[in-house]
Amino acid sequence: MKNIVVIGAGTMGNGIAHVFAMKDYQVALVDISQASLDKALATIGKNLDRMIAKEKITEAEKIATLNNINCFTDMKAAAANAHLIVEAATENSDLKLKIFKQMDELAPADCILATNTSSISITQIAAVTSRPEKVIGMHFMNPVPVMKLVEVIRGYATSDEVTKTILDVSKGLGKVPTEVNDYPGFVANRILMPMINEAIITLHEGVAGVEEIDTVMKLGMAHPMGPLQLADFIGLDVCLSILRVMQDGFGNPKYAPCPLLVNMVTAGKLGRKSGEGFYVYTRGSKDLVVSSSFS
Ligand code: NAD
Repeated sequence: MKNIVVIGAGTMGNGIAHVFAMKDYQVALVDISQASLDKALATIGKNLDRMIAKEKITEAEKIATLNNINCFTDMKAAAANAHLIVEAATENSDLKLKIFKQMDELAPADCILATNTSSISITQIAAVTSRPEKVIGMHFMNPVPVMKLVEVIRGYATSDEVTKTILDVSKGLGKVPTEVNDYPGFVANRILMPMINEAIITLHEGVAGVEEIDTVMKLGMAHPMGPLQLADFIGLDVCLSILRVMQDGFGNPKYAPCPLLVNMVTAGKLGRKSGEGFYVYTRGSKDLVVSSSFS
């Protein structure tokens, strides 16, 4: 396995391209937006510089890593020689089904099709392809170069051989893969998202402010980041999509997203990537400042 295609160059796609390219895979990074591709390359460069500063890699390794990444706005050109495609486009099931149909037509017959989806059914995605045994969930955590876990999700039809290949590839990237079955939210988000949603409900009901809620969870539960800051970091649109998939998938109102989360996403307050969520994010500043909507 040598040629990897990563579809989607946003928060997750740039990190996935980064970790494969560092291990000498040839990476084709595909996005419909040239601006996303440019931003992704700049982010990868910055993250590699940080690794140089910490003496984890050399300048020559940075150059080699960047040379292993080629950017495309057209999936056709990228997919022709692919051994593994990792899809990390926007969390939207119609979009993912469309991308997988296209990938199935464009990629070689033996190519494995993986998705980094946080919650959408692998079995449903696999069903639109002619190779459901080669479709699998490869759920990296954010930020990808730092976080060790890869949640490997077997769809109903995923073969043992493909599962083993993805477990091995993940280990080769220096990650710890953990195999789980295909139910809404899998394991990571089934547990994480209700906590984030409850933190937003707690804020919405006026029980406590943004900093107070995050402080309770950081100092009281030894979480490295409070749930509201973590929601900003993940992307509030991504959190909302995951909760809706779990609400639909289980038919259980306990997963219903807080109306405040829905309003914030509708208003374009998506967290760090849009510059504002529960906190405001100013380029170049590391200070955590609560959004004026909540202060
Ligand atoms: P994002 O919004 O940061 O990036 C999505 C990218 O997909 C954008 O650059 C967009 O232009 C691109 N895109 C949209 N349609 C496309 C298409 N047809 N072809 C190619 N590119 C297309 O989203 P993200 O946070 O990186 O999430 C990507 C996936 O990873 C989602 O499935 C999400 O659930 C999952 N995920 C996210 C996190 C997180 O913390 N953000 C963690 C784990 C998994």
